[in-house]
Amino acid sequence: MEEQDIINIRNIGILAHIDAGKTTTTERILYYTGKVHRIGEVDEGTATMDWMRQEKERGITITSAATTCYWNGRRINIIDTPGHVDFTAEVERSLRILDGAICIFCGVGGVEAQSETVWRQASRYEVPIISFVNKMDRIGADFFATVEMMGERLDRTPVPIQIPLGVEDTFRGMIDLVKMKAYVWQEEGEGMGFEELDIPQEYESEARKMRDAMLEAASEFDDELTEKYLKGVSVPPEDVHRALRVGTLKAQVSPVLCGAVLRNKGVQMLLDATVRYLPSPVDLPPICGINPRTNEEEERHANGKEPFSALVFKVQSDPFVGKLSFIRVYSGKLRVGKRFLNTTNSRKERASKLLLMHANKKTELMEIHAGDITALVGLKWSGTGDTICSEDKPILFEKPIFPEPVVSIAIEPKTSKDQERMNEVLNRLSDEDPTFVVSEEAETGQTLISGMGELHLEVLVDRMVREFSVNVNVGKPKVAYKETLGSLSKGEGRFEKQTGSGGQFAEVTLEARPGSRGSGFVFENKCSPEVIPAGFVPIIRSGIEESLRTGILAGYEMVDIEVDLTGGRFDEHASTEIAFKAAASMAVRDALEKGAPTLLEPIMRLEVTTSEKYLGEIMADLNGRRGKVQEVFDRKAGQVIRAEVPIAEMFGYASSLRSLTQGRASFTMEFGSYEAVPGNMLDKLVVSLRGF
Ligand code: GDP
Ligand code: MG
Repeated sequence: MEEQDIINIRNIGILAHIDAGKTTTTERILYYTGKVHRIGEVDEGTATMDWMRQEKERGITITSAATTCYWNGRRINIIDTPGHVDFTAEVERSLRILDGAICIFCGVGGVEAQSETVWRQASRYEVPIISFVNKMDRIGADFFATVEMMGERLDRTPVPIQIPLGVEDTFRGMIDLVKMKAYVWQEEGEGMGFEELDIPQEYESEARKMRDAMLEAASEFDDELTEKYLKGVSVPPEDVHRALRVGTLKAQVSPVLCGAVLRNKGVQMLLDATVRYLPSPVDLPPICGINPRTNEEEERHANGKEPFSALVFKVQSDPFVGKLSFIRVYSGKLRVGKRFLNTTNSRKERASKLLLMHANKKTELMEIHAGDITALVGLKWSGTGDTICSEDKPILFEKPIFPEPVVSIAIEPKTSKDQERMNEVLNRLSDEDPTFVVSEEAETGQTLISGMGELHLEVLVDRMVREFSVNVNVGKPKVAYKETLGSLSKGEGRFEKQTGSGGQFAEVTLEARPGSRGSGFVFENKCSPEVIPAGFVPIIRSGIEESLRTGILAGYEMVDIEVDLTGGRFDEHASTEIAFKAAASMAVRDALEKGAPTLLEPIMRLEVTTSEKYLGEIMADLNGRRGKVQEVFDRKAGQVIRAEVPIAEMFGYASSLRSLTQGRASFTMEFGSYEAVPGNMLDKLVVSLRGF
């Protein structure tokens, strides 16, 4: 594929509030792009059968990290974006590698909280968006009210390029404001064929009014159009498309379409708009990275002449080919089997296969190019967020930062059959999701799953049950605490054991201090080799590190601790590595017990958006949750409260906020930092965590 083809690629995501119709839309897009090459070609007699079979077959790849389809000679890569706000990390990493998005709204619900959140996230990356008002066939659907809400709550001007023809049970098509034509769908069969008609008389004045508004908005981005519009000369479709494309790419306007995907109405136009208004990889600025050899910033442009560079954005397992590493190629090209570098971990890699994932098949490629989104088979060392590139022109792109898991729940298989599969499935899920961690509770041996929030874990458990048929009992959500030291302390440990052949001996003394927040574990050897031979130091260090994995207050990992090895004793005949490891472990526990150990809790950064009316109540409620309000400010979408709140107080917040505000507020929450639990709460908390 040559460079001119890059302009035919669209890397897009579909964003939506839950239930707005994302899955149905994706299904229909894949169906249309796979089956119908020109509109109206469908053999209606067989359509239904085909449909059902296809849907079944497609089940797997629809949940693929990326799916490729073709529309009018353009290649559209649909990148999966999660539908839940709890998956901040997932949303952000997909937003980083996609070039444009379709945002689906429900014509009844309008702009719901979650649409606002994902929209805001997309805006942070300046992702161009086209909007689709779905479910126009439902009772209560209101296109104009939805557009009005978009204008009030979102940061771009919504520009309808269509208006619906009929509504609810009379919804039958739409009027295209660019061409000034009506499109009416056939009700027979799957209703995929449609006719182009003149605008019905009763819609004429409204269509003209809405077209004027569209031209007015478009005129900001194109002088030629402005001139024609002001002179009253007719404005051809090309001018409108050109102007709206510029406005969309600048993230200042969002063209709005409508339809009812469940009734197969509007999907073709949505695809047309996708290739028309959303950018190709070359429409975007080059990506920046660091050359690890020089530490200088370098750029990579989306063309085949530059050195190969790509980002691994998802690792997913496939039942047939094994581990798939999904990548976004930023520059250059890669041939199958050619060696390349993983800059993140300095490993050499090679792909045994390069795959394009389609709805119901995979295509093997010999070579992939700038702008492509493909899956590689055979990578051994590459994980999500890694940069891969040509060996002789290394570059490192910024790694998406994945926050630490802050909530855990215990899970337990229901039957022995579930037991067998549970671990395998958990491994698979945590491979796919870097914010999902599986561990074993030290004391009980119970399996703990940890993630970014309650919902995150709920959905993962749901996937275990539904996708993998593993049934589990789940416990209540628990905070993922950590432990640390409160003060400087000294510790000593002595290991002595008599055995037949002469015994074992080691003694270690050390000093432990609280380290700065986020510093983890820092070790220094301050002991001369006469006291403890250097050869024993690494084992002492690892003995300490191992002990710190289980804190002494309630068994959580101990972090932010500096330990100096200060002395000890050894015996030429009786000292062994095992003895030193044991002595080190005893010494550090001795120090920890004397060092005022304390608990650290995750503090979340919370952002609540609401109207003026509920500000007071929300802030009072946050106060009761030990929240600290940082700022309150105005945004187009409403009043915004930013606060820091311990996650311990936030379980079930979604439903409390809903009832506090009758659903008139939305929130996002992400991990901020670990902070010490207030002193007056510590004792009681420790007792309850220990389960006494
Ligand atoms: P998602 O959660 O955004 O993926 O939404 P789904 O595609 O799963 O759709 C949620 C529900 O809305 C399902 O019951 C769909 O059948 C229904 N739905 C989707 N599109 C339409 C539509 O155009 N009209 C109507 N009436 N229902 C729809
Ligand atoms: Mg869905």
